[in-house]
Amino acid sequence: MMQDSLSESRRAFSTLHAHTTFSDGKSTAEEMILSAIANGAPEIGISDHSYLCGEDWTLTPDLYGEYYSMLCDLRDKYKKKIKVYIGIEQDYLSEKFPYELDYLIGSVHAFDIGGKYRSIDLSVGMTKDIIAEVFGGDPYLYAEAYYDSVADVYNRTECDIIGHFDLVTKFVEVDSFLDVNNPRYIKARDAALKKLLDAPAVFEVNTGAISRGYRTEPYPDLSVIKTLAEAGKPLVLTSDSHSAQTLDFALAETAEKLDKLGIPYHTTLAEVKAYRGL
Ligand SMILES: [Zn+2]
Ligand SMILES: [Zn+2]
Repeated sequence: MMQDSLSESRRAFSTLHAHTTFSDGKSTAEEMILSAIANGAPEIGISDHSYLCGEDWTLTPDLYGEYYSMLCDLRDKYKKKIKVYIGIEQDYLSEKFPYELDYLIGSVHAFDIGGKYRSIDLSVGMTKDIIAEVFGGDPYLYAEAYYDSVADVYNRTECDIIGHFDLVTKFVEVDSFLDVNNPRYIKARDAALKKLLDAPAVFEVNTGAISRGYRTEPYPDLSVIKTLAEAGKPLVLTSDSHSAQTLDFALAETAEKLDKLGIPYHTTLAEVKAYRGL
């Protein structure tokens, strides 16, 4: 016990998944970096949302240049205190980001329904509207469509990190619209998982929905984490934080759980790149 608490007090977690006021974060990039420094983290990756037309939670192309140059400036300004990496959370449906980045997180957040984007993770009500209006009220058709895109996320984005693999479960603890034990759900999820096991990308264990009060466990589901670990697929621990106050939210607890299960995980970009042979 004593050793646990001693090592716990020393642990400072980096995160490669963090949002700022450039997209839907509440804190500026500099505030996020200062929070990481205050936490004692050795590095931080900023990964705002790539552009999706009509969505208010993404970067817009007119801000891409400013985003990139400001992060370069901040990286230089704080280089003696922390490593700052410049990334993007590249949505499955977005165009490629026009600047050379340190890394990409590949994520599916929306469907393209006849040229109009419908985001899946904004609220329970919006999610249920999509299921009713687009998928004839069938939540498993909805989940199948989500995992069809997820299965292809590496091919489309060539991401370093696969973002919140089962985001489609964001609201299942607060509303029973989707049963994650349903065989159709499991079949769709596991088909995507099988395809991505071959992709040279790391899966994240993401605590973002815990800090926002939707979930009590990180993405992905523990059964998925165990499958990944058994397959020797690396995991990277991230907070998907949208505020300087939650930058390391639930990372220590999640790390402790993984440690107890004997499941290894990474926290740094160098480890992610090493797996990719880069
Ligand atoms: Zn995301
Ligand atoms: Zn995110």
